[in-house]
Amino acid sequence: MSISFQIDATQNAARLGRLATPHGVVETPVFMPVGTVASVKGVSQDILEELGAQILLGNTYHLYLRPGVEQVRQLGGLHRFMSWPRAILTDSGGFQVFSLNELRKVTEAGVTFRSHLDGSSHFFTPESSMEAQIGLGADVIMAFDECTEHPADRERVQQSMEMTLRWAARSKEYFKAHKREVPWARTAEVCPAGHVGTSVPGQTQGLFGIVQGGMDPALRKESAERTIEIGFAGYAIGGLSVGEPRALTREVVEFTLEHLPSDKPRYLMGVGTPEEIVEYAGLGVDMMDCVLPTRAARHGLLFTSEGRVSIKQKRYAGDQEPLDPKCGCRVCQRYSRAYLRHLYAANEVLAQVLNSIHNLSFYLDTMRAVRHSIALGNKAQFFPTEHSRAR
Ligand SMILES: [Zn+2]
Repeated sequence: MSISFQIDATQNAARLGRLATPHGVVETPVFMPVGTVASVKGVSQDILEELGAQILLGNTYHLYLRPGVEQVRQLGGLHRFMSWPRAILTDSGGFQVFSLNELRKVTEAGVTFRSHLDGSSHFFTPESSMEAQIGLGADVIMAFDECTEHPADRERVQQSMEMTLRWAARSKEYFKAHKREVPWARTAEVCPAGHVGTSVPGQTQGLFGIVQGGMDPALRKESAERTIEIGFAGYAIGGLSVGEPRALTREVVEFTLEHLPSDKPRYLMGVGTPEEIVEYAGLGVDMMDCVLPTRAARHGLLFTSEGRVSIKQKRYAGDQEPLDPKCGCRVCQRYSRAYLRHLYAANEVLAQVLNSIHNLSFYLDTMRAVRHSIALGNKAQFFPTEHSRAR
């Protein structure tokens, strides 16, 4: 008993599905808010529940460094530690090692890197990434991969892809041998908030493989086929959003999706804008995550049904309208643009909190609307073109 996936409806390439995890069912296509260090910056868990977040993403690299995997494991795993009874996905740590560490050293065995917190030296391998992710206890965990830099020549991309395939096999091997060690699989405990379902004796995590291969269609195809041969519960498209133009991202996603099995969840890592997540759902992506809604919120950039709002602008100083008249979130129901603009200008912590709540609400509502549209069979009519225009 691990995770299972079923597709309830399709509309062209888009799929409406249900991913059953040990901590509840996730309706797909889904947007996963990023909770880097067991916290979605500025937004508490009760509000995330209210917004309808079904699954959060945690970063293994950050949690491994602080508070440490053993600490989280002893506290019953991530769900119990952060009082989040719904599903969680952790990444492998690979992407942060590659993006935050200029001094990393990659060998066949693994990656040596320095902590961005205190400069201490650490070593990640496929086995230690699995050990960390099993100890953290997310519902969906990721094989350890090398995120190939862009641009890179074909030989380099191929060598990197080959190593990711060997690391994928090692990840799976370790997972098979140790999957029963996940904290919630053994003992029935109740989380501090009294949520039921935090512990699920007898169940195990779902391990996803990651397709690499740079921007090369032939290498992407080969990477997909050989990752599928190893066999995983789902498949992610990695190695994108690494500085390539957006049109190329879309192209690579489209031709990689062609080679992924239709009966398994497909996860596109690290995208995107509201327009992009709709577009990718339309192409047949089931899961996405991105720091953009919360990061943009902290910089005063808000996504609304009428386009983007830069709340810092003086033009909002006397504006008594809600941020987004079509949004049902607690921020738009209660506060004016003038107040939000004031909080931002005064550098109040509440500005970051309220802005983050609205942006996440907008993303989650967007995906809810996409799911609704697929169910009704009118995906093509969903996203009005004026949505992408900036105000
Ligand atoms: Zn709102």
